[in-house]
Amino acid sequence: MHPVYLDYAATAPLRPEVLDAMLPLLGGDHGNPSSVHAWGRRARAALDEARERFAAVIGAHPAEIVFTRGGTEADNLAVFGRARARPGAPLACSAIEHRAVLEAVRAAGGPAHLLPVGPDGVVDPDALDTVLAGRPAVVSMMWANNETGAVQPVEQFAARCAEAGVVFHADAVQALGKLSVRVKQVPAHLLAFSAHKVGGPRGVGALFVRRGTELAPLLYGGAQERGLRPGTEDVAGAMGFAIAAELAETERAAESVRLTGLRDRLEAALRAAIPELVVHAAPAPRLPNVASVALPGAGQEMLLLGLDLEGVAVSSGSACSSGAVRPSHVLEAMGVAPETAAGTVRFSLGAATSAADIDRAVAAFLAVAERIRALA
Ligand code: PLP
Repeated sequence: MHPVYLDYAATAPLRPEVLDAMLPLLGGDHGNPSSVHAWGRRARAALDEARERFAAVIGAHPAEIVFTRGGTEADNLAVFGRARARPGAPLACSAIEHRAVLEAVRAAGGPAHLLPVGPDGVVDPDALDTVLAGRPAVVSMMWANNETGAVQPVEQFAARCAEAGVVFHADAVQALGKLSVRVKQVPAHLLAFSAHKVGGPRGVGALFVRRGTELAPLLYGGAQERGLRPGTEDVAGAMGFAIAAELAETERAAESVRLTGLRDRLEAALRAAIPELVVHAAPAPRLPNVASVALPGAGQEMLLLGLDLEGVAVSSGSACSSGAVRPSHVLEAMGVAPETAAGTVRFSLGAATSAADIDRAVAAFLAVAERIRALA
């Protein structure tokens, strides 16, 4: 049976068009973009082109794009960059942030406010007033959650922060290529992106920094990326990211319809066969490609390993540390019962996912669920 990869939210495969665009920049064209000679100028031109093309995808000015070493670094630059720009000011983020934001807010050491989330997986906008009254250095709320796919009210948050004169950061890592991410429509000051979620290379990301937003760097050195991310730039990575983002945006409307259909097919088939199945964040607006489902009482390792043995790759909602499976902080914040959270797996779909893959994944899940039931 052919293997089925349903873990696109973890990493999407590198697109062949992206590899084609990157190879000449990794091989023959080896100049340092800061060098003044012809090799350097060619590298600089490629980097400028990548910046212009990526900026155009989100409707930004090229000078507002800072290329980073991935989404985690972009989120850290947003959080620490603001914490350092406004020492002593509180920081605020939602309770369902990716750890790249959550841990950065904790590590920054100042007072931190966590915005609560409803049982549907959507952050409660009512909590914003109290947070804004404390004049935080930054409010951070993700555009769409990586575990449940729940889309957050970013437009409303960005507008209210802008009105209050407070800097708003959104982790748009899972939103890019799935939702319309346009900086003219959403007045966020900072937006974090990651290339490998849209078919670009791993270890490449970007932070959109709206003009006029005060931000301190994490690293010190040269003047690259306007001093916000010193270090010789990954020209091939930046170009790969730009091409991947362009392709994802061009295909977004059609892919959104197709993937929503496949996701619904998956959920409907599982629900029909397993009445007790829980679909997390089902009432919320969701990403087209993410289905987070729980088989209450089933151990996550049993589900994941069982599916792996069946040749179906999915993700858990938990982080495994020192041998112990920690419950997902996202599901916990949503008030999901621990035995339901523990039986949760995330299916995430992408460009190569077909209806046959979905049917295979459903059959595999049902077989694993049956085995777990028999063991119990
Ligand atoms: N933010 C979100 C919402 C993510 O899903 C991820 C990756 O899983 C990241 C940030 C981190 O991105 P990267 O893997 O590029 O560091």
